[in-house]
Amino acid sequence: MPRTHELVEVSGLIEEVKLWLEKREINLFLFDLDGTLLDTQKVFDKKIKQAMLLFVAHSPGWDIDQARKRFNEIDFEEFRIFGVNPQRLRSTVSRLSSEHYLSCQVKEEMTKLIMEVYKTSPPFMEGTLAILGVLRQAGVQLGAVTHANKDWTDFKIDTSGLKHFFNKIFVVDENGVKDWHSWKEAISQFGVEPENVAVVGDSLKGDIISAGEAGVKHLFWLDSQSWDPYGKNKVPQNVRVIKRLTDVISTMVEEADLII
Ligand SMILES: [Mg+2]
Repeated sequence: MPRTHELVEVSGLIEEVKLWLEKREINLFLFDLDGTLLDTQKVFDKKIKQAMLLFVAHSPGWDIDQARKRFNEIDFEEFRIFGVNPQRLRSTVSRLSSEHYLSCQVKEEMTKLIMEVYKTSPPFMEGTLAILGVLRQAGVQLGAVTHANKDWTDFKIDTSGLKHFFNKIFVVDENGVKDWHSWKEAISQFGVEPENVAVVGDSLKGDIISAGEAGVKHLFWLDSQSWDPYGKNKVPQNVRVIKRLTDVISTMVEEADLII
């Protein structure tokens, strides 16, 4: 019976995941949201592309790749001012429009297209439900530490159906940066010590290096090549680099018997 066989396999897996958790005294798994559990990048790419097509239609001599490149340059600069506040995208569109003397009407249409990001439910990353399901069954507490607008976070959590997996969701101030203070504060709100926490995230600096600085020892960096305003950083030695979320589980199974 395939169904029974699958159940046996999963229960075997969960025992090994439990063993990994017990040996390392981990009782909380914290996840970043955007680019880690939710493929927010896909939504941004789609909406920005639509806005840039409109831009190109009103900017003779510019193609979509040039437009997207300039958008990214301005957006990166605006991140330093606005962080992840949605106002950043408005400001980026405004600057791009000014540079090209676009009419207010075109600017407003571009803004409207891009701001649809905040009304669109992002799809899951590959393996999101699998990893949360396995960890939940293994009995570890789960939480999200996200750096984003609070209302948008509520929207994403409500529409994705992820809420029931998490014991708590911690939102880092949208106007600030995600640093070691953010992780320390988030961890303290769960009432656990950093050494009893494992972290999974896609931003090497904002998630992994910062959580490490807050005292977390078990760090999984999802090298997903997604938007990362913190730029390039060196991967610290103790970090486990993964290509997809389910690699967290396979790594735990492989390491289950080891003392790491
Ligand atoms: Mg992220």
